[in-house]
Amino acid sequence: MPSIYLYNTLSRNIQEFKSIKKGKISLYTCGPTVYNYAHIGNLRTYIFEDILKRTLIYNSYAVKHIMNITDVGHLTSDADVGEDKMEKGSRREGKTAWEIAEFYTKAFFRDLTELNILAADEYPRATDHIKEQIDVIKKLEKKGFTYHTTDGIYFDSGKLLDYGKLARLKPEELRGGARIELGAKKHITDFALWKFSPALTTRHMEWKSPWGVGFPGWHIECSAMSVKYLGQPFDIHCGGIDHIPVHHTNEIAQSEAAFEKPLATYWLHGEFLVVNGGDKMAKSGENFLTLQTLKDKGISPLAYRYFCLQTHYRKPLTFSWAALQAAQNGLNHFYNAAATLSQTKTNHPVTPSLVRRGALASSPFQGEAGKGLPSGELPKAQASVAETFLVHLNSDLDTPAALALVWQALRERSITLAELLKFDEVLGLQIQNHLEKPTEHIPEEIQKIIAERDQARASKDWARSDELRKQLEAMEYEVKDTKEGTKVTKN
Ligand code: AMP
Ligand code: ZN
Repeated sequence: MPSIYLYNTLSRNIQEFKSIKKGKISLYTCGPTVYNYAHIGNLRTYIFEDILKRTLIYNSYAVKHIMNITDVGHLTSDADVGEDKMEKGSRREGKTAWEIAEFYTKAFFRDLTELNILAADEYPRATDHIKEQIDVIKKLEKKGFTYHTTDGIYFDSGKLLDYGKLARLKPEELRGGARIELGAKKHITDFALWKFSPALTTRHMEWKSPWGVGFPGWHIECSAMSVKYLGQPFDIHCGGIDHIPVHHTNEIAQSEAAFEKPLATYWLHGEFLVVNGGDKMAKSGENFLTLQTLKDKGISPLAYRYFCLQTHYRKPLTFSWAALQAAQNGLNHFYNAAATLSQTKTNHPVTPSLVRRGALASSPFQGEAGKGLPSGELPKAQASVAETFLVHLNSDLDTPAALALVWQALRERSITLAELLKFDEVLGLQIQNHLEKPTEHIPEEIQKIIAERDQARASKDWARSDELRKQLEAMEYEVKDTKEGTKVTKN
């Protein structure tokens, strides 16, 4: 198998990827909190994860992919205070939290389909795995990692020597900060494993547990479900960069404390979609744009996908309507160029300028603090388009370089349709569905025959109509009868 290089947040380096089991990859990506529609920032993260998964498959790996659905326990503040987002959604819409979860989970799946994101093997829901979560908490309790407070069971981060290693947190500095409100917690980095239902309010979602009626903390679902479906350790864990300091840090803490093994070997994080010169798009913010908002403005979901592929996943992507419109136009041109490609197989080498522009100049390895690619892995001057395409993807998913390469190959006509469709297994732009030939110029003499044939058909002169069809076919035109009359395409 060719080498794949990925930036591992855990080591802060680009590493050559080695799977735990030969030829197989276990992948866990944190899924949505289903109390509202996904915004297009969330969707950027799922598109990046889809490119990762498609690249692994393109490299002939069998990928087992699990994405959880958070339908309970994610509070409005990551510091274990505030309201459960599901209950908040239920008050907002006057429905039960169960109805909210059902509605927005379905909406999420529709978004994935429209963005041509490959389906995960399973989408386990937190509410279907309460027993599994309680079991992990019991394990932690037995090993002395938990303590009770008036509002729940907490993980004692002070008991773990390497707490915060993913985010490179310095807990002793954080813990020294008396200005931070601790509440009932012993340390600011401790987090809820189980929360008790508040005394005076009724929750739609609550369960009995050995500690009292309540609901699981947010992080425990991913630990319980990843070990159930993938085992521990598994190969790759992904999410957006906001997951590094809290959610993933706490998943690592509780999973590694409970099972005494690493949780995952590679950690990949996607940068944010930003608005207004740098603000993160957030579900609670004003700039909450959904896929539907884009469609209402004439931007197709696949144009949004194309827009995301133009920027490397570890760089912030700035939203603007003008940039999205440009992406829509770019994708339309891309489809038109694809439609003119011949089916004949060629094996053109890439021109040296292409290699320089694509693989070297725009490589994410340039200027990285971490280790770069070994120079032997860079495409050779005489590499074929297909070889260079693969090197770009395997260079930490360099989709901007891969797209630039494909564009230049389209311009130079050094690529066949078959090759392009193969590349689309990773790009996921559904090129096959957009291969209607661009409008052809039909010469005047042909147009005259078409007009005469339409007249013959209108007056039911089938013999003349057949004669004229034969004439057109002899001139290498394929003839189709449609509701609008005769349509021809040049063979
Ligand atoms: P949530 O539904 O809030 O649990 O988030 C779902 C995913 O979207 C997580 O992986 C987040 O890290 C990611 N995410 C949240 N905001 C953004 C953003 N503005 N840009 C990209 N990804 C985001
Ligand atoms: Zn998670």
